[in-house]
Amino acid sequence: MVVGDVTTGTDVLVVGAGPAGYVAAIRAGQLDLDVTLVEKDAYGGTCLNDGCIPSKALITATDVAHDAGNAEEMGIHADPAVDLAGMMGWKDDVVDQLTGGVEKLCKANGVNLLEGTATFADENTVRVSHSGEGQGSETLEFEHAIVATGSRPIEIPGFEYDDEPVLDSTQALALESVPDSMVIVGAGYIGMELAGVYAKLGTDVTVIEMLDSILPGYDDDLKRPVKQRATDLGIEFHFGYAASEWTETGDGIRVVAEPTEEAAADGGSEASAEPVEDDTLELDAEKVLVAVGREPVSDTLELENAGVETDDRGFIQTDSRARSNVEHVFAVGDVAGEPMLAHKGSMEGQVAAEVIAGEPSAIDYQAMPAAVFTEPEIGTVGMSESEAEEAGFETAVGKFPFRASGRALTTGETDGFVKIVADEEQGYVLGAQTVGPEASELIAELGLAIELGATLEDVASTVHTHPTLSESVMEAAENALGHAIHTLNR
Ligand SMILES: Cc1cc2nc3c(=O)[nH]c(=O)nc-3n(C[C@H](O)[C@H](O)[C@H](O)COP(=O)(O)OP(=O)(O)OC[C@H]3O[C@@H](n4cnc5c(N)ncnc54)[C@H](O)[C@@H]3O)c2cc1C
Repeated sequence: MVVGDVTTGTDVLVVGAGPAGYVAAIRAGQLDLDVTLVEKDAYGGTCLNDGCIPSKALITATDVAHDAGNAEEMGIHADPAVDLAGMMGWKDDVVDQLTGGVEKLCKANGVNLLEGTATFADENTVRVSHSGEGQGSETLEFEHAIVATGSRPIEIPGFEYDDEPVLDSTQALALESVPDSMVIVGAGYIGMELAGVYAKLGTDVTVIEMLDSILPGYDDDLKRPVKQRATDLGIEFHFGYAASEWTETGDGIRVVAEPTEEAAADGGSEASAEPVEDDTLELDAEKVLVAVGREPVSDTLELENAGVETDDRGFIQTDSRARSNVEHVFAVGDVAGEPMLAHKGSMEGQVAAEVIAGEPSAIDYQAMPAAVFTEPEIGTVGMSESEAEEAGFETAVGKFPFRASGRALTTGETDGFVKIVADEEQGYVLGAQTVGPEASELIAELGLAIELGATLEDVASTVHTHPTLSESVMEAAENALGHAIHTLNR
């Protein structure tokens, strides 16, 4: 069917059906608003199709194989064979279940779904172009718009994603065969998670990072066990290097990296696998994965026609109610800025819908958690010890190592700790950091503690099931109070 130049209207237009946009649309539907969700590609956005879900599925699957093959201590002797097509097929099934679920939930909440690419024509109108030859476009008028167009991988000069051996994270989550070797450019969370996946599949993985450590932004004590475990898996690191080009070698590629000015001035980073000096690095590999960060998708929307402004990185700047500089246009999720995390976008999406419905909602980032699904995992929420001190708090800090946890010992995963940071005077929990087994799950309790204004006493006096990893949270709070039972108090 050719869609002609029909003009329709909606109270709330949501552009982009990722976790920010579809959550905004569902919440708007729940609030009885007339809402239309426009998506150009696949329901669920990056998170469900190319990000959180497929990466976590592959992390789990490769963990199963790796753990089974490395459990001699438990008396298990196995040599699991991985059928990559089967593994990818299972991952795709998980994705399909979730994306199908999003579509059903939207419909069940009265959301009008429209497939196509939206561009702003003016302050109250978008053009929606339908893909496919002869599919045409239509015009949609709106009272309010919520921009939720997400982000895309940053490309670095010389490493275009169209070139076959150069992968972005999306392509790296859908390989048809296990590469013998892979260079990963970037040791942020996406690079580190995928480094673990491929190292466990048997790929020789080398990571190049411009900075002097993995996972920029995380405290050193959280990163240390992750770096150690990655090294144990055979992952090689080169810090203080920037990838500059790649060439064909006949049986693969050669990735060239130059020391960054800072690294050259330092004479090399001590964490580097090889002395940096001022040597150019040349690494032979089958594939190169570029994971140097993501940039907002705001340049394809013709935002200027609606008068919506972006900052110099392309993020739409918003206030605490998710509003852009144009009163009736909201922006949520990755396109609205850091942290680029799915749950942050979903929270902003709900707030935007509620504000449009006239509710007194506002965004609160105080208890925003983050997780890195490396081995071991990292989970953080609220303030770190140094952030709390910088904010002027006298801190009370408690720590509990997993090696003292009965449950951690029974899982064979004893690296890491739970750390809790509180206000010394009042006892309020200000933040927490954990690295270790199930850190991504454990951090939720600490987020709730911050959200509810709980004190160390509240956490310590909450009875936790035995034997569980969550007892470590209680023990860390007890440690901060000076009366932990299963570790020495500081
Ligand atoms: C490999 C990887 C792993 C990740 N792991 C995690 C994790 O474990 N936890 C976590 O919290 N986050 C994770 N993320 C980040 C997470 O995926 C993003 O933060 C999240 O998807 C952002 O949601 P969003 O709705 O803002 O945008 P997106 O999910 O990017 O969705 C935007 C949607 O808008 C659509 N769109 C864009 N322009 C238009 C247009 N003009 N018209 C119509 N539709 C349009 C796109 O097609 C897309 O579907 C990961 C990301 C990657 C790449």
